[in-house]
Amino acid sequence: MGNSAQIQDPETIVKLSQPQHTRPADGADRKSVAPVICYPPETLQPVDLDALAALRANAHRTAEVVVPPRDAACLDVPAGAFFRILSVEGPQVGDLNLWSSADPSEHFYSGKTRALHGTHLSTGDRMWSRFPNLRPMTTITDDSLDWYGFDAFGGSVHDVIGTRCDPYTGRLLSGDDYHHCCHSNLTRAFAAHRGLSLTEAEPLVHDVLNVFMCTGFTRNTGQYFMKASPVRPGDYLEFMAEIDLTVGLSACPGGDCSASHSSDAASCHPLVIELWDPGEAARAAHQQPAPSAYDRSHGA
Ligand SMILES: [Zn+2]
Repeated sequence: MGNSAQIQDPETIVKLSQPQHTRPADGADRKSVAPVICYPPETLQPVDLDALAALRANAHRTAEVVVPPRDAACLDVPAGAFFRILSVEGPQVGDLNLWSSADPSEHFYSGKTRALHGTHLSTGDRMWSRFPNLRPMTTITDDSLDWYGFDAFGGSVHDVIGTRCDPYTGRLLSGDDYHHCCHSNLTRAFAAHRGLSLTEAEPLVHDVLNVFMCTGFTRNTGQYFMKASPVRPGDYLEFMAEIDLTVGLSACPGGDCSASHSSDAASCHPLVIELWDPGEAARAAHQQPAPSAYDRSHGA
């Protein structure tokens, strides 16, 4: 079983442990210092959403992959093409992995993406690859749930704060072995797609973008929470591939993630990945972001 604790009102939750140390005389002053944004958005290259919309307007749907409930599937998306993750049949959360098709060791880096764009992603945000490349793998071009913003609990959709449900944490917390967590689903799908063994594929599976999942942190205990996803059939999240990608998506066993995950308890639905191709000429004109220019000498 996963975490099924219901959070009624984050304001009523108190920390279980009390501080062991008294607050210093200037403690209130230290706490009242105003925060600054670590990475102000203007430090990043601006995204030209109008140009992307013009490209998207000429794209045609050329492929579609159905991701079965409690399972995963992969799709190759060439640089300059678009892909759309679509909700069908019922509310369902998806766990998204991205790999460079040319070198799958270059994969999505959720932690740095969170540092650059915040806890939840939407239109205009990018998904960055791990060191040493640290370059945009996708740009989000459309989000039918962008109206949601943040709710009264501090929750929002499409987070880069969770990791992915996995059998190791399940065993740690419950002692059970459950084989259809997103980590295992992505491992099986990526292995099959690339012709790898499970042992070769598993280390390349990584922390995800939680598509459609509604999450946050409780305000006074800082605990990670989830609540029923607001996604409904017809909703979508859409991306442009900045480099040649292999996209992996798991339909999480948590379903809409309203109560539990890491088990067969939740009601689950499929998801669809659609490929939208703007044409060979448009793709050829797309400028792929270069890997980081850092020289990797590390001061040695
Ligand atoms: Zn999951």
